[in-house]
Amino acid sequence: MNYDRILIRYGELSTKGRNRNQFINKLKKSILHLLRDYDEIKIELGRDRMFIHLNGTPFEAVKGRLGRIFGIQSFSPVVRTDQEIEEMKAAALELVKRNFSSGKTFKVSTRRSDKRFELDTNEINYAIGSHVLRNMEDLKVDVKNPDINLLVEVREKGVFLSCEKYAGAAGLPSGASGKAMLLLSGGIDSPVAGYFMMKRGVEIEAIHFHSPPYTSERAKQKVIDLAERLTEFGAEMKLHIVPFTAIQQKIQEQVPENYTMTSTRRMMLVIADRIRQKCGGLAIVTGESLGQVASQTLESMQAINDVTSTPILRPLIAADKLDIIDVAKKIGTHDISILPYEDCCTIFTPPSPKTRPKLEKVQRFESFVDFQQMIEEAVQNMETVYLPKSTTKDEFSELL
Ligand code: ATP
Ligand code: MG
Repeated sequence: MNYDRILIRYGELSTKGRNRNQFINKLKKSILHLLRDYDEIKIELGRDRMFIHLNGTPFEAVKGRLGRIFGIQSFSPVVRTDQEIEEMKAAALELVKRNFSSGKTFKVSTRRSDKRFELDTNEINYAIGSHVLRNMEDLKVDVKNPDINLLVEVREKGVFLSCEKYAGAAGLPSGASGKAMLLLSGGIDSPVAGYFMMKRGVEIEAIHFHSPPYTSERAKQKVIDLAERLTEFGAEMKLHIVPFTAIQQKIQEQVPENYTMTSTRRMMLVIADRIRQKCGGLAIVTGESLGQVASQTLESMQAINDVTSTPILRPLIAADKLDIIDVAKKIGTHDISILPYEDCCTIFTPPSPKTRPKLEKVQRFESFVDFQQMIEEAVQNMETVYLPKSTTKDEFSELL
């Protein structure tokens, strides 16, 4: 008897009332996308559970990817029996035997969502537990900390049994919270910011400002690689690469040196907001963290935010750098981020940028320049890269 389907537990979805169907459908879409190279897989939707029918695909092959999909609380490979206690006992015994080695302890954990079943939870635990014990030597019960936790779910459509339970990535499924534009530099922070928003169900379109020839093709490729990394969490992504050289040069010429950073950020935001309007995004996300560098003070954020009333989301605002680095390592973006290729800000950063820029001043400096035309051109000439979700198979463990 092999595991022939996977039971998916939604977790937070179940609290979302009437949006529930929408959430479940988004989750289904994420799963189908991430498992898209397994044609034979089929999904069966249910109110509080979803089933993936493997149709021959080994569970081990898809386990790692499932562990990265937002909206899944936990999942178990299961076998199905009818609501028939003798059949349940036989399946349970076989599963425990397969997971047993000398000295292991076990317990039965039943969940009965179909209350019409003739035995209640305790009676099922007892019936199955005693049957297994009777038929196995050297197996002991440990209800607190068993080596084998035999899960039994009695549902309308049958009984589902498993000895395995894996943690999902939790959060909400991609797109369930609408779309936002992520300002993606080549650094450590912005991919992490994107990851956190994705975890809350935000569909991300990334925007990168590129300044050739000051920034290289390799710097651009690095950002493409970062965006592609993020797609491994269950969603496809577009990355808009905006030519930014002309604007940066103009800022260098026209704005006093200690205000070039503020102006650069403002122009980035204006352009990002244009692209957002075109793409139907609801917010802009950055990787800023308070006090990390000169442009990331509250004064600076005031001067930068002034160019738009669109919500600017900064999920890392209160995070410490070391914690951000930990997440970057966990999600696999860190090693790409630390590649040495320059980004446009590194190259144009003045030696002492203003840490407390005054809004009126930056507005005045910019008023002498006609940026409008250049902004239009930058938006018109942007290049859009469509990132398919990567299908790299990497390890996933974390047994619950
Ligand atoms: P990161 O590690 O993400 O580069 P950082 O600590 O280097 O962040 P800054 O370079 O000041 O900080 O950038 C602050 C934020 O501005 C970034 O997190 C990113 O959201 C955005 N940003 C900076 N440069 C670019 C760029 N070239 N293209 C797109 N967004 C950018
Ligand atoms: Mg940076």
